[in-house]
Amino acid sequence: METNNTIGGTSAQVKRDNSEGERRMAHPIKHFRVITKHRHTVMKHCFRAGIPIRGLLHDLSKYSPTEFLPGAKFFDGSRSPTELERAAHGYSRAWVHHKGRNRHHFEYWTDYHPVTKQMVPVKMPLKFVIEMFCDRVAACKVYKGREYDCASPYEYFARGSAKKRMHEDTGALLERLLVMLRDEGEDKTFAYIRRDLRGKKDY
Ligand SMILES: [Zn+2]
Repeated sequence: METNNTIGGTSAQVKRDNSEGERRMAHPIKHFRVITKHRHTVMKHCFRAGIPIRGLLHDLSKYSPTEFLPGAKFFDGSRSPTELERAAHGYSRAWVHHKGRNRHHFEYWTDYHPVTKQMVPVKMPLKFVIEMFCDRVAACKVYKGREYDCASPYEYFARGSAKKRMHEDTGALLERLLVMLRDEGEDKTFAYIRRDLRGKKDY
């Protein structure tokens, strides 16, 4: 998952980050560990949800040089490296590369509306919505650590603006799964996805 990308800070702060950007110490091993740990958690979720192939393929582009090198350079244990890359360069090449290749991100699913010619969100295929759910739960576990409980992913979603930026039906399904997780727990939600949802043609 890409975390909340707002940069809280003044322009002076951004400038300082910018100058630091050029002489940062890279942390390739720490970055490798973080992305691999995240991948493994998502994989476990995807297996429980009945989409093992999506689990095995999840976030593999993070090991490509375009994503890995800035990830290591801007590694900071508490914030997403893409946030710091953005502060330093005005945008994150790693994120642009990532969202353009990974179909579990709703940001991938945008296109020009055939009539209005405006860029609009496109309805995500079901398996990628499930993968997105698995990803969000995994990311939330890492950010919250011991404070994580099964309501945390819903709370994060409810606070953020993601729902407004994805296709209506996609947002509604993701929300429904996060509410189910909050109210009925992980076992029931993954069992529901695996048995009742995964095989559906549409949602
Ligand atoms: Zn991803």
